[in-house]
Order: sequence, then structure tokens, then C-alpha cells
Amino acid sequence: MAFNLQFFGATERVTGSLYLLSAGDCQIVLECGLVQGAADEEARNRDPLPFDPQDIHAVVISHSHIDHSGRVPLLVRQGYTGPVYTHEASKALCEIMLPDSGYLNEKEAEWENKKRGRKGKARIPPLYTREDAEASINQFRGLEYDAPTEIAPGVTLTLFDAGHILGSSIVQIEYDGGDGKRTLVFSGDLGYRDAPLMDPTTRLQHADTVLMESTYGDRDHRPITETIAELTDVFESARAAQGNILIPAFTVGRTQDLLYLMAEHYDEWNLGKWNIFLDSPMGISATKVYSRFRHLFGATLFEPKSDYPVLPNLYATRSAEESMTINEIEAGAIIIAGSGMCTGGRILHHLKNNVWRPQCHIMIVGYQAIGTLGRRLVDGADEIRLWGDTYRVRAQRHTIGGLSAHGDQADLVDWYSSFENRPPVYLVHGEERGQRPLLGKLKADLGAPAHIARYQQKISI
Ligand SMILES: [Zn+2]
Ligand SMILES: [Zn+2]
Repeated sequence: MAFNLQFFGATERVTGSLYLLSAGDCQIVLECGLVQGAADEEARNRDPLPFDPQDIHAVVISHSHIDHSGRVPLLVRQGYTGPVYTHEASKALCEIMLPDSGYLNEKEAEWENKKRGRKGKARIPPLYTREDAEASINQFRGLEYDAPTEIAPGVTLTLFDAGHILGSSIVQIEYDGGDGKRTLVFSGDLGYRDAPLMDPTTRLQHADTVLMESTYGDRDHRPITETIAELTDVFESARAAQGNILIPAFTVGRTQDLLYLMAEHYDEWNLGKWNIFLDSPMGISATKVYSRFRHLFGATLFEPKSDYPVLPNLYATRSAEESMTINEIEAGAIIIAGSGMCTGGRILHHLKNNVWRPQCHIMIVGYQAIGTLGRRLVDGADEIRLWGDTYRVRAQRHTIGGLSAHGDQADLVDWYSSFENRPPVYLVHGEERGQRPLLGKLKADLGAPAHIARYQQKISI
């Protein structure tokens, strides 16, 4: 018997993944992520959920990134009491990331309410609180890869390694309503073939319908060897300029990739001449989770008795006091801090101290959503605003595209090509400019029945 899926998020955009499955009498939520980006986009997180949380039998989350998991606490606060299935490593990462997201919501509401107070407007509550997030963690059920689990009558869930970040999963959902099995495969976020840390993406041979991410559907990343050479140049010119290097980094995934690459290319990049700061409490905690689950990837450069890759001059600055000591450093510091798109976090303090100094360098190593400060930096903004003040951007900017945690067009086409029966494929998690070329490529090269998923569109599997 067929089952249905309706798209409620990440259609023609990257963030806010949310899909609703109906299988027999059961409703299953696949992904429950936050919309991230410009303020008017993020306002959509406050829209009522398009279903009654009390009618949901199960929730499945592909990985811990907030654009996939960030609305789970909201779902729970609104009455969902059932299980949230995800990989056990994703569960461990969500234990760090969701409370942080709750904390950021509280701060944001506080800030907003100050503004509203001055205008005589009514106060708004936080989207959800740290406490809401902590409570939702109790409903998480950690699974292993390749272990089929029944999550509702006739519905079997199996997770496969997606190679994107620790715990990231390709989600296979099989439904047997009594007259044969139907299979949905959702790619989650797929890793890049040259990713430094993660294992290769699992390839599957059969599905009746495929949902595939399309973040970089319009481009191929530079080969990793070129990226390494590019990084060598940046480190060299930054050292000659005698400034600092700021690296806004997603605390989960990109931060660990960077540390690992630095350990791997320590001599080549002359890193002994620098002090490396991991200035992110969450990045530090996440790196410990990576260390704990190091059997899931090829982490030969993780020190056997330490939580970190082998880097003698790495300083993990957890407390605010430790972090503030970095403000005094004018040269020779490599500072890795969140948030990855410069929408908040300690990176803002470091930008304040460095962005106007021509001898400093800003290295952008991850995806920057439209409307974020990170995107403005990438797009060449002359000045930026921080806490109401304007700063000229005189630091040198480098966009390192080849370090993506996402597969490029070649990876995406290649991953789909392993489905021998060429099932219908719906593109999600991408902007239209990336989806169009990918759609064309899938149709032309593989004859794939490919579609761009539309908001609220309902499909039968
Ligand atoms: Zn992701
Ligand atoms: Zn994502």
C-alpha cells in the first residue's frame, strides 16, 4: 500500500527541514529543523506546526544540525510525547546543540523585548527555552547504523552513514500496509567524497521514491589537493601580514574537520608559528563527542588519550574569561569560533577586534545563508554592523569552497545513480539556483524522473 509524504520545509531553500509521512493510520514527522537566515525567514519558526503534535506516532531526525533538529523542543512543548529516533551519536550531539539553541532563543527574545518595550509593544516569549530543549532530549532514542527498527505498525526505519558529520544518516523508511513493501529513501545531508574525517557516503540500490538534498547542486568543489594548497597560501600570507586569522565555523562538523586538517598539515602550513584557539564551549563539547565515537570514522590523528587531534599549540578556551584573553592578541592567533554564519556567538567579538585591521584574515569555510552576516562578508560588504556600531571591513577575506561538508553536484548525481531502478527523486534542502542545474543533470545524464519539491506538495510513495 502506498504511503504519503508532504513537504513542509526546506523546499527551494536550505534550512527548516520538515516532512510529514502518513502510513496507514500513523503520522511520522521526518526532520523538524529550524529555519535559519534573515529575520523575516526565521519568523516562520513561529508559524503553527502544520499538524497536531499529539497525532504524531514517531519523529525521525537525520542528524544533529539545527536546521534538521532545531524544532524538536517546540514539538515536544506543544504536546508530542513519543520517541525521536536518530543515530546515537546524533543524540549525543543534540544533547549539546538543542539546549544551546534554547539559550539563544531566550537571549534573542530578551533583546527583542527590550526593543519592543521602548516602542510600547507587547512582549514575545522565546521560541523555546533551554529547559524545553533539555526536556525534549529524554524522548530521543539513539540507533546504530544498518539496524532496522520498527517505529510504527508496518513502518521500519533503517539509518545508513551519510558521511556528512558525525552521526549523520541516510534515512530509509519502509512501509508494508499488507500488500507489499514500499520504500522511501531520504538522503539527509550527504558528505563530500574528499571529506577529511568522515567515512564515504553509503550507496543504496533500491527505493520507490528518493528525497535528495541539493545544497551544492550547481557546482563542483575544487579538488581537495587544490584546497590544501589554497590554505597553505592563506596561512603564509597571514603570517607575513602579522595579523590574526578568524575562522567562523559550525561547531559540529566543520570545527572538527579543521582541527583534523590542521593536525594533518601541521608542518606544511607552518602551524608551529601560531597559537590555535578553539574558542567555543559548544565546539569543545562537540569535539569530545567526536572523540567518544571515533570508531565511526577514520580518525587516526586523534590522540589516543586525548579528546583532540594531535596539535601541540591548541588551546580550548571554554570560559568567557579565557576567551577574553584572546582579545589582547594582535598577531599570531588562529581563532576558530561560532557561529558558523556569524549570526551570534564569540566570533562576533573577534570580528569586532579584527575586522577593521588590514593585517587580519577571515577564512570562510562553510555555507553562508542569505541574510546572515557571514553571507554579507562573503559577498564583499565594505562595512558591517555589530551591536549597533559600524565597522569597516579591512581584513582580507578568503572563501574556501572546497572544505564543504556537503557533496557537490558530481557527488549528488553519483549517489542517486546507484539506485538501479531510477526512482522518482525530489530535490529538497537547496536554493533554486542550485536545484535547476542538478535537475537538468539528473534528467539528461541518467534519465531520472526528477522534481523540485514544492512547499506543501503531497506525494505518494
Ligand atoms: Zn547538516
Ligand atoms: Zn542541513
